[in-house]
Amino acid sequence: STEDPWRPFNSSRVYMLDLESTLHYSLRVEVAAHTIIRGETLISLKKYVAVLAKFFPGRPVVMNLLKSLSSWLQNQSGDEISYEAFKEIVDNSAQSPDMALPEGERWVGCQGSQPQFRRFPCGLWTLFHVLTVQAKKVGSSDPQEVLTAMRNYVHSFFGCRPCAEHFENMASEGLAMMNTSSLAVLWLWAKHNHVNNRLAGALTEDPNFPKIQWPSPEMCPSCHAVQENGDHRWSQETVLPFLMSYFSSDSILTDYLE
Ligand code: FAD
Repeated sequence: STEDPWRPFNSSRVYMLDLESTLHYSLRVEVAAHTIIRGETLISLKKYVAVLAKFFPGRPVVMNLLKSLSSWLQNQSGDEISYEAFKEIVDNSAQSPDMALPEGERWVGCQGSQPQFRRFPCGLWTLFHVLTVQAKKVGSSDPQEVLTAMRNYVHSFFGCRPCAEHFENMASEGLAMMNTSSLAVLWLWAKHNHVNNRLAGALTEDPNFPKIQWPSPEMCPSCHAVQENGDHRWSQETVLPFLMSYFSSDSILTDYLE
């Protein structure tokens, strides 16, 4: 539509506008599907927002909002909260200066050739890759903190329920063994490639953005190696620094931000 024109982008970069759109969609659309948030859903929300407040490499206004939201949530000692009360903080209804989470979805690197393609699911993967990388960079006392927050977010809130079920199956198999922050970064990359492999050629695939084993040899030649029997092999000692640089806060582009 004329209201949301195509934004030219570099397909081998991460955009802050995609990450902010992902936060908007998760906190104002997916969480909003729960009028009352209680029990394990409330625990998932607290942990997700706490991880965002800690590791999201956002603009100061956005970080102030996430920190305020997280401390509000941690102070909720009752059994349940209403989405309405949560939304007052997300929307900064008290109008504190210097904090905001911009409204609306405006996709850049996660644009699809049709409205049903890419967008939020693309943003959610990107967000969690960025968070695992940031947690490794700044250090975390719990190397599984980000992955557990992702697992619980997806379980409690991700609108694609078959996706959530698939992801929970993968998480229950190996996530608990990822006891360093490097392993956490690599686990998410490897599982994302498993999903890409399963979905390659499916009807949900945007024909303009085919599912590949990522990164391509063009993006990272030395990530790819050949075994003695001729089979493909990943060079994990190269993949890890590639991921650390690709999803690093210093590499995130701020194009199209208002
Ligand atoms: P995405 O797969 O969303 O990837 C986004 C971007 O991340 C890519 O453009 C690329 O730049 C980068 N990237 C790609 N691969 C990797 C990698 N291995 N490591 C790091 N970065 C990478 N859809 C289904 O139909 N069935 C499912 O079961 C399903 N499960 C999902 C589970 C989760 C947790 C999530 C977040 C999404 C799931 N989806 C599922 C949606 C699907 O994985 C894609 O997100 C969606 O089809 C959009 O694809 P995309 O082309 O934008 O690329």
